[in-house]
Amino acid sequence: MQFHLNGFQPGDPEIADPAERIPAPGADGALPAEVDVLIVGCGPAGLTLAAQLSAFADIRTCIVEQKSGPLLRGQADGIACRTVEMFEAFGFSERVLKEACWINETTFWKPDEKNPQNIARSGRVQDVEDGLSEFPHVVLNQARVHDFYLDVMRRSPAKLKPYYNRRLVDLQIAAETAGGNADPCRVTARLEPADPAQGGRPETVKARYVVGCDGARSAVRKSIGRALHGDSANHAWGVMDVLAVTDFPDVRFKTLVQSAGEGSSIIIPREGGYLFRLYIELDKLAAGERVANRSITSDHLIAAAQRIFRPYTFDVKEVAWWSVYEIGQRLCDKFDDVPDAQAGGVDWNWNSRYWRSFGAPWGGAITTTSDMSRFCQCLAQGGEPLFSPATVREATTNRLLDFPGIPDGDRRSRGWGYGWRMNWKDHRSLFADLLPAEAYGHWGATGTLCWIDPERELSAVLLSTRSVEREVSPLTRLSNMICAAAR
Ligand SMILES: Cc1cc2nc3c(=O)[nH]c(=O)nc-3n(C[C@H](O)[C@H](O)[C@H](O)COP(=O)(O)OP(=O)(O)OC[C@H]3O[C@@H](n4cnc5c(N)ncnc54)[C@H](O)[C@@H]3O)c2cc1C
Repeated sequence: MQFHLNGFQPGDPEIADPAERIPAPGADGALPAEVDVLIVGCGPAGLTLAAQLSAFADIRTCIVEQKSGPLLRGQADGIACRTVEMFEAFGFSERVLKEACWINETTFWKPDEKNPQNIARSGRVQDVEDGLSEFPHVVLNQARVHDFYLDVMRRSPAKLKPYYNRRLVDLQIAAETAGGNADPCRVTARLEPADPAQGGRPETVKARYVVGCDGARSAVRKSIGRALHGDSANHAWGVMDVLAVTDFPDVRFKTLVQSAGEGSSIIIPREGGYLFRLYIELDKLAAGERVANRSITSDHLIAAAQRIFRPYTFDVKEVAWWSVYEIGQRLCDKFDDVPDAQAGGVDWNWNSRYWRSFGAPWGGAITTTSDMSRFCQCLAQGGEPLFSPATVREATTNRLLDFPGIPDGDRRSRGWGYGWRMNWKDHRSLFADLLPAEAYGHWGATGTLCWIDPERELSAVLLSTRSVEREVSPLTRLSNMICAAAR
C-alpha cells in the first residue's frame, strides 16, 4: 500500500482517482417520522450497532450524525487484535488486514545510563502475546473502518445510510401508560441542522429506543439525566501524523520512549510505509482546565519531540494531521433510564441489572447466525476440516453412558456429550419433538439455541432474546417447524 507516498489521502487506496475514493454520501431527504431504534452518532460505537441492526430489515433503524459527511481522517487508528476478531464477524477483517500497518514488535527507550540527556534502547518485545488472538494488532485510518461499516450497512437487508448534518438537541420521554393501546414510540428526539449553511430544518423523530453513541459529551446522556463521575482533572497528550527525515532507528516500530527530563513519547508507524504517528505527553491539566486554552501548536509538539528523542533528530517535512486531546478518568454510573423498579430486583429477568452488569463467561462468545450455521454444518457433516470425525463422534454422543454410577434413567434420558447436550425426549427443554434423540446442540438460557441432526446433516441456529427457561419455548415450536420443512 503506497497511498501515503505523496501525503495523506483519505478514502479507498485502491481507487486511483482521489475524487472517487471518497465514500458514498448519506441518506437523502427528511428523517423518518417514527423508527424502532434511533442511533445518535456515527463514531465506532454507533456504526457498529447500525451495521448489526442493518441485518434486520424489519427493525426500523435510523442513524444520525452531526458531521456533514463520513469521516475522512480518524484518530482511533490503533486496532487491537480482539477488535479485528469483531471485524471478522462483520466480514471485513481481510480488507483491514490488507490495508493496515501490522504492529508486530514494540521497542522501549529510556535515559542512557552513561549520558542521561540522551535516550537508549532498553528492550524489544513481541507486541501481542502468543495465544491471545489469531489476528495481529494493526494501525489503519479509523475512517477506513467507518467506510467498511458503511459498506456493510449499504449492502444489508435494511440498506441503511446515515443522515448527516443532524445534531440531536434533546429527548422528550413520554410517561409509560398502561394498556394495549399505549404508543410504543415514547421517545421524541429533537434534531437540528448542525451546519445551517448546508440547508435543513429542525426535525423530530419518534422512537421506541434511542441509543446514545454520541461520544464523551453525549446529548443523549444529558437528556436522560445521567452524568459522568470521577477525577475532573485531565491528562493532555499531543498527537500528530508526520512525514519526517530522522536518524531514529526504530521509527517503523511501535516505540515507547521515556526521557530523563523532557517527558514521554510513543511512536506508532502508519500504514503505507512512510507516515508515523507521534504521541507526546503534555502536562496534567488543572481540574476543569481545557486544553484548548493552552494555545498549543504543532510546532510546540515538534519541538517537544526533538527534545525527548535527543540525540536523534526529526526533520518534519509534513504534518498530515495533529491534535491535542484530553484523557479523563470519568465514568457514567448507569447506561439507561430504566427505573430501578423495572431494572429487576429478585426477578429472574435477563434484562435485570444483575445480569447486565455480571461478567457472565458464556456471554463472551459473540457470533452471527451465518457463522454459527457454518460451524454447525461442518459438525453435521463429520467435522472436517476443523475436527476429526472421531473427535466429533466422541464429543456429540451421550458420554453419561460411560458413568455407571449415575442413575440409569438420567444416564439414558438426560444425555450429554462433551459440552453438547443431547435432544432430551419427554423433557420440556427438548430441542424439537421431530428430532431424533441422537441430535445434539446447545440450549442457552438467554434465548440462544442451536441443534444438529447428524442423521440428516441438518442444523439450525436460533439467536433470540427470548428466555427459554420459563415455559415450553416457542423456540422448540420453531425448531419443529424447521424439521418439518426440511423433510
Ligand atoms: C487523539 C485520539 C487518539 C485515539 N486513538 C485511539 C486508538 O488508536 N485506538 C482506539 O481504539 N481508540 C483511540 N482513541 C479513542 C477513540 O477515539 C474513542 O474511544 C472512540 O472514538 C469512541 O467511539 P464512540 O463511537 O463512542 O464516540 P465518538 O468517536 O466520539 O463518536 C461520537 C459521534 O457522535 C457525533 N455526535 C456527538 N454529539 C452529537 C449530537 N448531539 N448529535 C449528533 N451527532 C453527535 C460526533 O460527531 C461523533 O461522530 C483515540 C482518541 C483520541 C481523541
